[in-house]
Amino acid sequence: MKLHEFQAKQVLARAGISIPEGRVATTPAEAEAAATALGLPVVVKAQVHVGGRGKAGGVKLAKTAAEATSAAQAILGMDIKGFTVRRVYVERAAKIAKELYLGITIDRDRRRAVVMLSTVGGMDIEDVAATQPEKIARGWPDALLGLQGYAARGLCFTAGVPEAQRDAVAAIARQLYGVFRATDAMTIEINPLFIQEDGSVVAGDAKLEVDDNALYRQPELAKLKETQPNEEQEERAKALGFSYVQLDGEVGIIGNGAGLVMSTLDAVKNAGGHAANFLDVGGGAKESVVKAALEIVLANPKVKSVFINIFGGITRGDEVAKGILAVLHDTKPKVPLVIRLSGTEAEAGRALLEGARLVSRATMDEAATEAVRLAR
Ligand code: GDP
Ligand code: MN
Repeated sequence: MKLHEFQAKQVLARAGISIPEGRVATTPAEAEAAATALGLPVVVKAQVHVGGRGKAGGVKLAKTAAEATSAAQAILGMDIKGFTVRRVYVERAAKIAKELYLGITIDRDRRRAVVMLSTVGGMDIEDVAATQPEKIARGWPDALLGLQGYAARGLCFTAGVPEAQRDAVAAIARQLYGVFRATDAMTIEINPLFIQEDGSVVAGDAKLEVDDNALYRQPELAKLKETQPNEEQEERAKALGFSYVQLDGEVGIIGNGAGLVMSTLDAVKNAGGHAANFLDVGGGAKESVVKAALEIVLANPKVKSVFINIFGGITRGDEVAKGILAVLHDTKPKVPLVIRLSGTEAEAGRALLEGARLVSRATMDEAATEAVRLAR
């Protein structure tokens, strides 16, 4: 679950990290009032669950109240990577001398958190990692000891943080690590962390992503959960008990069992296509479940063909076939369906599907090739 910048900044502020003063606005008039109250200049920033707002035109500096109004006018309603901006955050502009990067995430190889600090802040850290990996200082705190003072200062030395700010940045790194642990975060990031002209250090941006599996013990944060329209499909699938992940491709996928669905994604990729989703109907799916799954996949406008890959164990081929027939009858899909059905009651299933408007293939690879071809 992602928090908005203004929400994440509140969490940081409670932990003692300095943030610029700011207010949320939902209309240009509110933005103007906020700018006047805060004092100019201000920055007007889109609040959406996605990064790269600056490059997309979602962060604007305003020197006058009128500029704040027009900035809010331009940003509100803007589409940033599929997210519509409903709120802006108006913030006292920082007097920037230098931009740093500070972030903590989980290093799955080391099975520890990794703290990253760089004096190349402000830009995409992925680009820095790819082109100048030596510019990122990294530390892996012991889970029980936490980020010790000497380790935080060491990161500052390695990263080349100016001497005058070393203690302040080290303190922020330790506070940020505390927040990371306390919020069950998967990722927490301050990019940029501003060193201001007067030498003070403030968080210019804040990103906080909390592990969904920990929300039961994060009731305060759980209240901040928002579903964006482009996440609705995922929420619907989740409510029905499916594991569903929306992807970018054109071939809709349904399978039974996470491992089978994963290899189905690979098969589609090998055949030159791209999966539109991951959907596992689970074991023993009945007709109604298969029908609901297929309807969810078909509701995605990007889907140009659907590949149903069933290896029946406790899932029965005849139940799968009945689910598909119900969809063919009720919704009359506009895109072709390809099925590979094997295992329990596969023959009964195939008999039921005889003459139906779909393509049947004997193996996963053949079916993947057909689904990719039909999607073109
Ligand atoms: P992101 O693009 O979504 O990561 O949004 P950020 O909050 O990181 O803002 C992008 C860029 O806008 C920063 O790297 C800064 O260069 C600039 N910016 C953000 N806040 C301020 C500010 O208070 N003053 C000034 N002058 N620039 C800012
Ligand atoms: Mn940023």
